[in-house]
Amino acid sequence: MSVRASDPGQASRARARMVERLRAQGIRDERVLAAMQAVPRHAFVDEGLAFSAYDDTPLPIGFQQTISQPFVVARMLELLRNGRELGRTLEVGAGCGYQAAVLSLLATEVYAVERIRGLLDRARANLRPLRLPNVRLKLADGSLGLPEAAPFDSIVVAAAAVGLPPALKEQLASGGRLIIPVGGAEQRLLLIERQGNTFRETWCEAVRFVPLIAGTD
Ligand code: SAH
Repeated sequence: MSVRASDPGQASRARARMVERLRAQGIRDERVLAAMQAVPRHAFVDEGLAFSAYDDTPLPIGFQQTISQPFVVARMLELLRNGRELGRTLEVGAGCGYQAAVLSLLATEVYAVERIRGLLDRARANLRPLRLPNVRLKLADGSLGLPEAAPFDSIVVAAAAVGLPPALKEQLASGGRLIIPVGGAEQRLLLIERQGNTFRETWCEAVRFVPLIAGTD
């Protein structure tokens, strides 16, 4: 499917087809689907890749990183939401900023952290024209969470960890939900629900993410 950034009507139709495909793939959360219909995904990838922006595939965003495929973004946000407002939300691994833009339509506040400075600059540039008042970007090692903004009602991690970083668990508010890909060659989404000091873990579908790496560039 070919999308020209200069043709908003065409991009919007490509997004509508993407949303229909997500529905057919089993995504039921209408708020997530509406947010993904609204955010211009093609504006977050290189112009030369815009024609593939609405295909169900991950795409390179530079610095050996990728923007997740639409189904995985939708599924993670559906699991994270579970029908509720996301509230104060932490995204670890802002990448090109696409998921942060989708989150901004579902959450009261979004704190998106990224460890690669060049990508953070790209995310800022991509997000600026959208004028989303509730998104804050920060250069940080997200495996340490973001203590100055904690606790979070929702935490979504966009890179695969070997195990759940303790700081993320600690920075989750009571009643909050956290979703993170865990594993190496084989990865699965892990959903954590916190009630007081009880953490319920649920393993969900198999996924493939770039690794969560400590430190910043
Ligand atoms: N959500 C992104 C996709 C991100 S790909 C989007 O919509 O484009 C995963 C990102 O996680 C990469 O940009 C990578 O640099 C970042 N990352 C990996 N380890 C990290 C860490 N410890 N802290 C913050 N970001 C991290």
